[in-house]
Amino acid sequence: MSDPTILPQEPRAEFASPEGRAHYARSLDCVHCGLCLPVCPTYKLSGRETASPRGRIYLMRAQADGRLDPTETFEEELKFCLVCRACETVCPSGVQFEALMEHARADLVRARPLRGIRGWMRTFLLRTVVPSRAWLCIAAQALAIYAKTPLRRWAAPILKRVAPDLLEREALMPQIPPRRLRTDLPPFTHAQGNRHGRVALHEGCVASQLLPEVNRATARVLSKNRWDVVTWNSPSCCGALHAHAGDLEFARELARKNIEAFERSGADWFVWNSAGCGSHVKAYPRLLEHDAAWHARAKALAAKTRDISELLAEHGFSPRRLPVEAKIAYDEPCHLVHGQRVSAQPKQLLSTVPGAELVPLSGATDCCGAAGLYSLERTADSLAVLDSKMEKIRESGATMVATGNPGCILQIRAGAKRHGLAIKVVHPVQLLDEGEGSEL
Ligand code: SF4
Ligand code: SF4
Repeated sequence: MSDPTILPQEPRAEFASPEGRAHYARSLDCVHCGLCLPVCPTYKLSGRETASPRGRIYLMRAQADGRLDPTETFEEELKFCLVCRACETVCPSGVQFEALMEHARADLVRARPLRGIRGWMRTFLLRTVVPSRAWLCIAAQALAIYAKTPLRRWAAPILKRVAPDLLEREALMPQIPPRRLRTDLPPFTHAQGNRHGRVALHEGCVASQLLPEVNRATARVLSKNRWDVVTWNSPSCCGALHAHAGDLEFARELARKNIEAFERSGADWFVWNSAGCGSHVKAYPRLLEHDAAWHARAKALAAKTRDISELLAEHGFSPRRLPVEAKIAYDEPCHLVHGQRVSAQPKQLLSTVPGAELVPLSGATDCCGAAGLYSLERTADSLAVLDSKMEKIRESGATMVATGNPGCILQIRAGAKRHGLAIKVVHPVQLLDEGEGSEL
């Protein structure tokens, strides 16, 4: 396993730091067996060794050894990766691919920063909009206005000329609910003798604006199962998008703020209905491994972090009583099954839904192509991965798909629109919710 004392023979300056050393040592875990190739969506799409996990690790090591400059090809292969982590699940050598990719992308951002208007927009989106509830609300409502007014018609020819892929994605845009400046989740509290404990529920960045019904269902289900629920929305993001984009400095800033907010909340557990966010919070100790003042606090938070399905399966839950007449396919979010190794718990929840038939979905653990900003930045690749997922969903005969990650819910809904499939796409927790205001 990783030995952080090992250095490349002629290390570049950035690999001499403790963080650089740890990164380099992680790359040595790969024994080039190639078992990861058949599960890698970008290898399957392209057939290129350099677009596989093994090939990417080789490129990263060549770059660290000073044998390869960060060229356009290197950049392309790093950005083509969905960071789905399917390679980690099958790797016999325990390669921590996500950690490698985050560090390599951070190096790339330093070596080849995105300049001009695209660079400015990316930084503005990641550092200003995403961590702020107010900015998120403004951005969501601006999109809602765009979707409902002639602006959309006027913009179409311009988009067609400058970004045809984005126009294809725009046609699949979800409906945006009314403004979500403040939380609409009241604090749920129970009498002292009648409660399990207190959970902190983070509403997330995308979910707070685009899927508020999932947050409401999560809070109602927790409350029904005798959990006190506290929420906060500053910062409004866990930092996963930043880490994947190579902005580790800002990701660490958000991690520290969330650790402080959790400690202040007095909660027993930090619960997530977003697989990507839960997975990232569980990785805070790695993100802060070289920060002596915060590492222990990050570890304590990670130990208290649970996906909603994990928490309910661990502590028990009241099943739904009203029947749901549907054929349900469960699609496993990458960051739940590969990132957190949580697979049985959501299926356990779904198996209790009366009236529903659970149908098998082939390729359920394959990526759907959402992958955070990937669906916007690499639309054509994202849609190619999605098309293969939608084909499998069609073959399953499902009338409903359940999946525990906001990005996947939106992506599969977009896929249903693109493929003309009449299916509902919901979060598993919505199938346990039958409280006042429950929406299925
Ligand atoms: S499965 Fe693991 S050890 Fe084998 S090539 Fe892939 S990353 Fe390397
Ligand atoms: S994270 Fe996913 S896309 Fe990236 S190399 Fe691994 S399997 Fe391939």
